[in-house]
This record gives sequence, C-alpha cells and structure tokens, in this order.
Amino acid sequence: MDPQKKLRLLSRLARFECERDPDLSGCIYEASTPGGKRPILKVMLSTYCDKNCDYCAFRRDRESTPRLFIKPEDLARGFMELYRKGKVQGLFLSSGIFVHPEVTMEKLIETAEILRRKYHYKGYIHLKLMPGVSLQTLEEAVRLADRVSMNIEAPNEEKLKRIAKGKSLRKEIIPSIAQVSRILENYPKKSHITQVMVGVSDETDEELLRSSEYLYRKLKLSRVYYSAFFPVKETPLENRPPESKRREHRLYQADFLIRDYRFSWKELPFENGRLPEDRDPKEAWAERNMHLFPVEINRADYELLIRVPGIGKQTAKEIIKRRLRGALKTPEDLKGIRNLRKILKYITLMGRYYGKAFRC
Ligand code: SF4
Repeated sequence: MDPQKKLRLLSRLARFECERDPDLSGCIYEASTPGGKRPILKVMLSTYCDKNCDYCAFRRDRESTPRLFIKPEDLARGFMELYRKGKVQGLFLSSGIFVHPEVTMEKLIETAEILRRKYHYKGYIHLKLMPGVSLQTLEEAVRLADRVSMNIEAPNEEKLKRIAKGKSLRKEIIPSIAQVSRILENYPKKSHITQVMVGVSDETDEELLRSSEYLYRKLKLSRVYYSAFFPVKETPLENRPPESKRREHRLYQADFLIRDYRFSWKELPFENGRLPEDRDPKEAWAERNMHLFPVEINRADYELLIRVPGIGKQTAKEIIKRRLRGALKTPEDLKGIRNLRKILKYITLMGRYYGKAFRC
C-alpha cells in the first residue's frame, strides 16, 4: 500500500474511527500540550497487537481490525509533509504491541529519531511507552519526546485483570512509570501522563481518585486523563453500556482538586464510592463541611480561599490583592469577580452575610 495512504489509515484507526480511506485532515485534532493547544496528528505505527485487552479495537482476536504497519521512515516523511504545509504542529505516536514491547518501542524511537536527526524537527512529539521495556529504552524515548505516556487503564491490579489479563500494574506498568519519573527529574520541561478508563472494570470513583493521588504525589505524573468507556463491536465488552460523560466530567473536577488544590482523595464527598453526579465535587465537599463556612473573606488565608466553591487560584489572588487596598465590605467590592453569586453563599464581608441561598 502507498505509504501516504497507509499513514492516513493508521491515523484514522488511532482515533478508533472507521477504516475507509479518509482525508488526513480529519485525523488532526487540537491537543493540550505544555506549550498550549496545538493541531496534533495522532497515528499508530502498527495496528498489530499481541495483547488481547477486552475493550480494545486492536486486540489480537478481533478479526475485523485492519492490520497495518508503517515503516518509521515513511511515517516520519508523511508527518513532515503535513508539518511543512502548516497543517500540524505535533505528533502523538502510539502503537499496538507486536513481537515484543522492546521491538515496538524501538520502532517508535526510530521514528522520533528520524524526525529529530534527519529532518531536524524541533516540534512537539508525544510518545506512547510500552510497559516492561528496559531502562535504556525508556531513557531514549524520554530524550526524544516532549511528552511520554503509559496508560494504567484501571485503578488497581484486580480491576486491570478483569479487562486486560495480559497486563500487570504491579509487575510492569507501575515500575516502568516509576522509572520514567526518575528519568524525568533531569528534564523539568517534559511531561509524563497516563490515562485510565472509566466504567469498564466496575471501578469506583474512590478507587480511581485514590490511584490518581498516588500517581501525582508519589510518581510525579503531570496529568491523569479519564476516558469514559464506549463499547467496540466484536470485542468481549461490545454489549456493555457506554459510560456517561457526566461521570468523566466529575472525575476531572475532583482530580483538579487533588492535583491543584491539595485536597486528598480521603476528603472527597463519595457516596458508596461514587462522586455525586448532580453537583460539583467542591460544592458537595463544602456541603459536608458546613462548620468551615461562611468564611470571612477579609481574614481567610489563600489555602482556605481556594477551598471556597467558586474561588479558583486566580480569584483567590485577586481577592488578596483587593484586600491590600482596603477591607472588602460589600459585594460591590467584589465586582468583576467570576462566580460571585456562588461565592456569596460561602462567605461573609466584614461579618455580614449576603448569600441568601446559603443553607446552614
Ligand atoms: S495492548 Fe494496547 S493496543 Fe494492544 S490490545 Fe491492549 S490496549 Fe489494545
């Protein structure tokens, strides 16, 4: 098959979309990178995979998946054509695991190496890492990429075994992530992320967020992505219902509290292991901690301010800046602050309460 056609097909497949010959522009998506939002080409090097994960379109036993492999040189050349035309500003390179994780990883690294050395490409590369490869291979991948990722897929070993018997968090994935974290200590500008699937292994939100806290605090990951499950035809999970996007959204909000607001998973407002879906987790947390509210806006320190529903980091800084100019006495003194109606439910201004809807 013509390498350009193969690249188009592999890119389309990387997004779990149909196997017809697509226009490559449909395979480019806006991704958040450390340098901001950019058009990125996501592409698979190979759709052959020796693993048999129950949820995946590329699992070994799925006969209808088109099996393709593109040579690193062809992939690099095809990408550079798009890059030179200004259609993409980055590459996310992934692959099924073929022959051995080490062999797959070598081919991914070879592609990045060609881009960096032969084409002098200095732009963004995100490399998917294969679990269980050698330290030297991980070091090579980190050296060439701006971002690396290895998906954990489930929050613990037992849940992972339910959906991917050939994978192990304990034996392969977590040790590899820990190695990458140590390597990244020498590369402060590079990032390290993972993805976990939601609604596929009967996992609870509590399990998911507990594992995310571990990944942030102990293994120094930059970001955990939550991906709501959707069933793929001709896989063992084809009849499992898709997971709701609302649950995914609540997990992102709670993750934000752990990652940026120093909440612990233990403080989050779980009900039988699940976050309430009908409200923001910070608001649900505040409702459970009424003894802390309302806070006096003129005295609360930064750490307490950012725990007030509606107050983010920027707003907390703005409030502290305004306080330096004089006491905040009425809602008028908070004019221009986002989410003011919500914030007023949780604060007093010089001892006076203006949030009539506040329940206590
Ligand atoms: S190892 Fe990756 S590509 Fe292969 S079946 Fe599992 S999830 Fe799919």
